[in-house]
Order: sequence, then C-alpha cells, then structure tokens
Amino acid sequence: RQEPGAGDGPDFLGALQRLGYQSFRPGQAEAIEVLMQRRRLLLVAPTGGGKSLTFQLPGSALPGTTIVLSPLIALMADQVRALEARGVTATFLASTLPGPEISARLGAMARGHYKLVYVAPERLGAPAFRDICRRIAVPLIAIDEAHCISEWGHDFRPEYLQIGELLADLPRARVLACTATATPVVRDEILSRLGLPADTPQIVRGFARPNLALHVAEEEDRRSRERLIDHTLEAALGRAPGARPSGHDAEDMSYGTAIIYAPTRKVTEQESVRLVTRGWRAEAYHAGLEGPQRDRVQARFSRGELDIVVATNAFGMGIDRGDVRAVIHLAPPGSIEAYYQEVGRAGRDGRDALGLLLIAPGDLPLRRRLIERGGGDDSPPAPAVVEHKWNTFLELMRWAEGGSCRHDAILRHFGDEGEALGGCARCDVCRQLSAEADDDPEATTLIVRKALSAVARIHRRFGLQAAVSLLRGAADERLERTGLVNTPTFGALRDHDGPWLLRLLRRCVVAGWVDFTGDDRPVVVLTDIGRQVMRGAVPARLLLPPRHRPAAKDMLPG
Ligand code: ADP
Repeated sequence: RQEPGAGDGPDFLGALQRLGYQSFRPGQAEAIEVLMQRRRLLLVAPTGGGKSLTFQLPGSALPGTTIVLSPLIALMADQVRALEARGVTATFLASTLPGPEISARLGAMARGHYKLVYVAPERLGAPAFRDICRRIAVPLIAIDEAHCISEWGHDFRPEYLQIGELLADLPRARVLACTATATPVVRDEILSRLGLPADTPQIVRGFARPNLALHVAEEEDRRSRERLIDHTLEAALGRAPGARPSGHDAEDMSYGTAIIYAPTRKVTEQESVRLVTRGWRAEAYHAGLEGPQRDRVQARFSRGELDIVVATNAFGMGIDRGDVRAVIHLAPPGSIEAYYQEVGRAGRDGRDALGLLLIAPGDLPLRRRLIERGGGDDSPPAPAVVEHKWNTFLELMRWAEGGSCRHDAILRHFGDEGEALGGCARCDVCRQLSAEADDDPEATTLIVRKALSAVARIHRRFGLQAAVSLLRGAADERLERTGLVNTPTFGALRDHDGPWLLRLLRRCVVAGWVDFTGDDRPVVVLTDIGRQVMRGAVPARLLLPPRHRPAAKDMLPG
C-alpha cells in the first residue's frame, strides 16, 4: 500500500523515523490516510493499540500547532517528554502547573513555537487559551479518550462537553477522536456531541484476541464450581499446586500466572484462602487493603512469586506480566466492555491463554443490588442510569447465553467485524459445535431457518415475543390482526416451548442474524447476514439451547 501522504504532501515516512519507529503497525497508515483525506476520523482501538501515533505523526509533520485533548495528565507529560527527546517541540497545559508557567507556555504557543500542545479539558474554559487557538494555525485537533464526552460511558468528564465549542471555533482544523471503549451507541454519541456529521469515517480495529480461548460455565453447586476452577487452573498453568519446575527462575516470564476476579472483597479473601490451602501461592487484592499490602501483592505478582491473584476489579492498572495464562471470573462483571478488558489481561504474550466466566442464577439479583446501590455513599443513582447499567449488564448475559462463536460475538459487539474469524475454534461454543458436527447439522439448520423466517415476517413490526408466538402457533392478537396466523410459519416450531424458542432467538441475536431497532418499543429486524442464513446461503453455525434445562437467563426480558 502507499504510505499516507506519499508524494503529495508532508513526508510522513520521514516523520515516522524521526519519532523513532521503523514502520507502521497494522492500521496506522490507513488511519492517517483517512484523516488526511476526509479530515475527520473516529478511531477505536484497544489501549496500547498505537492510537497516539495517528495524531503525533501528522502533528509533527503538518505546518502549525496540533492540539491534543487528554484527561490524563501523567500520560500527557510522558508523551511530551518523549516528543521533546525526539526534537519535536511540544508542551502540555494543566491546572497542576504554577500560574506563571502556564502563562509562559501560552505565550510560546501564541508565537507558534510548538508542534503539539496537550491540553487538559478544564483549559477549554479559559478565554486566553481559546483566543490563542483562534489566532494560530491549527491543522489538527485530536481528542484522546473521546468516550469521556459520553454521559453513559464509565468515565464522563463534564468539561469534555466544551470540546464541541472549540471545534466550532476552528472549523478548518482536522478532527481525530480516539477511544478504546466505544460501542456503537457511545460512538454515535461522541460524534453528535462533538458536532461531527453522522457519516464521519470510523475505523474500529485491534480487538481480536485469537489466542484467547473463552469459556462460560453455568454452575450453581459450590463443589462443582470449585472442581472446575481447580481443573482450569491446573490446565492453564500446566502444573499442579505446589509444583515448581526445577531450575525455575522467578524472572522467567514463561512460568505462567492466573488472575481470578471475584465480585466482592469478601469473596477474594475466601477464595485465596481456599487456593492457599490447596497448595497454590495465592493472595487476595482489593481496594479495602492497606496501601503497603496492596503494593506487596502487586510486587510479588510482578516478580513471578505468585501463581494466582484473587482480586476485585481494583486489580488491573499496571499488570505488567505477559504470561497471565488464565483469567477466571467467579461472577459476571457489569458489562461486555469490563469483561473483555479484564479477560484481555490473559495472553498478552500472544501464547495460548484461557478465560473462564462462571455464571449462576444469583448473579442477576446481586448485580441489580450493586447497580441500585450506586457508587459508595453518593445518593442513589437516577432511574435512567440504573436502567442503562442494567441493560449493559444484560448484554453481557446474552453474550454468555452464547450459541455462536464467543470471540466473533464480542467483535460484533464492538463493531470490529472485519477481524471476526468465522469461528475461533477454541471457545466452548466452537468446540461443542465441532463435537456435534456429526450429529445432525441439517436438523439444526432447519430449525434456525424456521426461526429466522418468523423474524422476517415480523421484521420491523413487533418484538421477539411475537416471533415466539408465531413459531409456537400460539393465540396472539397481533398475529390475528396482521394475518400472520394464516402463514406457514405459524406453528412451524410447535414442538418447542416458549422459553426454549426465546433462548433460540436470543442466540440468533448474539450470532448477528437478528437485531433490534426502534426507540421506546424495540422491534426485531432480520440482518443481511441473517437473511442469507434464512435462505440457506450461509451455514447456520449455532448451538441450539439445551432442551430440558430451563436456564436462569430465561428471566431476562427480551
Ligand atoms: P494507545 O494510545 O492506543 O493506548 P499508544 O499510542 O500509547 O497506544 O501506543 C502503545 C505503544 O506502542 C507505545 O509504547 C508506542 O510507542 C508503541 N508504538 C505505537 N506505534 C508503533 C509503531 N509503529 N512501531 C513501534 N511501536 C509503536
């Protein structure tokens, strides 16, 4: 491929080398190219994916001063130091600096001294800063951590709302918004709050983790849960508790370690005691521990002195081991984003690693209580916030319900379909699918095609329950009124009960064949790929729900 800007503009390849890099990582050149040509870009890639280069490089090569908005002062200071070390003039503006220092930096900025100026969002309220921005040449405004503008996001910063005004002030500047966490809904919100058109180019990439084998197990009985955890640890770490390979060097990063995430502090303590009793070198980690104890656990983990850390979600920042071989969740976290971030700490070295999510019927009421209680001693959260968080959690539970490749379903959730594998061959669903491949794929295909034809008939009219009634051949006023009772689909799957059919349809949602639309009253739609599956043009790679075992998740609303 041609390098961005090759031949007809700034020398990006030269700038890349000046910044100390030999070559682009996958996707970086494309992102810069789109930004240069279309002047707007929303870039979604995981943390560590190399997003900074997509503004540092144009910033250092284009004439004028690029403005970078970032809420993380430590990170700004780091990047400024690295740029200056490479001879790129850069600075940052944050209220942690003494007043005279800010004035001096603003003065130099007004004289066009800097190629890049990093700005904390509270600076947007300062007239002096805004005035300088209007007077100097600004080729690019980059917004790092752009999801901070979303009130639904986990990290809302009210100051970010002013970015829209800055962009309106500088209509000729290119705009790059970067984030690691945006789902399609949040992405739309980012664009609208920044005042960018809905057809702004978006690039989503880097979410695929093909070396992770994702498993979900529904296990209520305590004994069998413990057996499953013990078995998983031994399999993933490749050793029995207490075993130390001879000549093992603590620095040897290939030795392997595991993280167990627990829903409460109490459970971290209980589970780590249990594992120690079994002979593992395990410690608990949560925000209720004294600082020195937390540091000690973190340090022992870093030095390879622990087989396992049992932690709440407080354990995360600064996990520097690439050889985490397993991440086990004793209960589902609050969202697919949180889950994928936590399980993504396994296998950073690119070698095989395992994620096990344990679910049980009690998870639903527990999460509901956690959500309603809100964050600590604040007043209880607003009903709309509770509702939003609950729906976010239900998305994770629907993913856990499974039926199609777990890896691909997560990529679909993030909108990173380009990297889907068409089945990862390692998750529990893919393995079960291939184990059952000889059973009767024709029967599965037939059932799925019938289910999708019901969706096609109620497409954009009603919700999932109407599709269930249609398939069961149940009396339903909506089906009478619309004449659907007279179609061959009516009663096409009458051998199956309602809850089973609902689970089947939810699995079709997770597989990407069925989706929802509509604001106050969601109605189903058959997606393009779903239509192809219905017609038999694409195989129905789906695990049917088990027959006689009603699941806790049947309690979930459609
Ligand atoms: P993000 O902002 O997406 O979280 P960063 O921009 O901080 O990620 O990049 C993560 C790391 O990858 C940094 O240490 C950066 O120096 C490095 N990096 C980025 N692009 C390249 C490249 N083309 N070649 C080598 N290293 C790179």
